[in-house]
Amino acid sequence: MLWGIDLGGTKIEGVILDSAENPKVLFRKRMPTEQEQGYKHILNQILKLVTSMSEEAGVSPDKIGIGTPGTLDPKTQKLKNSNTTCYNGQPFKSDLEHILKIPIVMANDANCFALAEAKMGAVKSHGIKAEVVFGVILGTGVGGGVVVNDKIIGGKHGIGGEWGHNHLDDSGGPCYCGQAGCVETILSGPFTQKYYTSLTGKEVHLKEIVELHRAGMDTAATKTINRLTHYFGKAISVVIGIIDPDVVVIGGGVGNIDELYTDGVQSAKDFIFNDDLETIFLKPELGDSAGVFGAAMLVAD
Ligand SMILES: [Zn+2]
Repeated sequence: MLWGIDLGGTKIEGVILDSAENPKVLFRKRMPTEQEQGYKHILNQILKLVTSMSEEAGVSPDKIGIGTPGTLDPKTQKLKNSNTTCYNGQPFKSDLEHILKIPIVMANDANCFALAEAKMGAVKSHGIKAEVVFGVILGTGVGGGVVVNDKIIGGKHGIGGEWGHNHLDDSGGPCYCGQAGCVETILSGPFTQKYYTSLTGKEVHLKEIVELHRAGMDTAATKTINRLTHYFGKAISVVIGIIDPDVVVIGGGVGNIDELYTDGVQSAKDFIFNDDLETIFLKPELGDSAGVFGAAMLVAD
């Protein structure tokens, strides 16, 4: 059996899957994170979750995969780059191994998303034999994970797949990471809405901007969506030029926008170093469950 835990800002979710070959959900449970009570409390919540899962399911784990916001630094073995800031600088893996008394395999949530969609979700259900899968999170932030032959490529610094802070265009302006013009400052939901506001003075939700664009009556909305698809293609072409994925799965709220799969893919085609583009772009299929399924898949062998 495979045990996975997905650590979110508001909830901690645990799952027990039958096996990697037959990933049926045997048991599933949620608990509030209560992150405002601090790091030690979160460790305790995880212990509580694992204990109650063991009791209720009648089985004990011999190792657990955990998906985290942020990345375990391979060198320091401490968590970094987490938007749940109380994790940053903490030796999260060794602390958990200490209190749970079993080995932990850890990966950030974008990597878990990519692994789950590759092994259980969109890639699997389309019957695609993919050597390289790039799982993208396009939402309030921009992240990603690289999966090669069903294995996450975490990388030397643990930032493998983190294309969100590659440089894209100066017009994106300053980014919280300290750079400017990052992919995230152009393609994320909030920054896309901000661009529309800069044209119109109006604050409109991205969903509505998409509808205004499709209705064909709002030139600012069309400019905003065209800018999004243009730069999506440009940004993803850089990734294609390096890892040349068989499949790109686009998750997150912005990833729902159909124009990414048409105009966005056409834009990528214009930018890549090849005459045609055979990379398959798919919507994810596991929804909110990708994180916890991917975490369980971390312990698949
Ligand atoms: Zn940045």
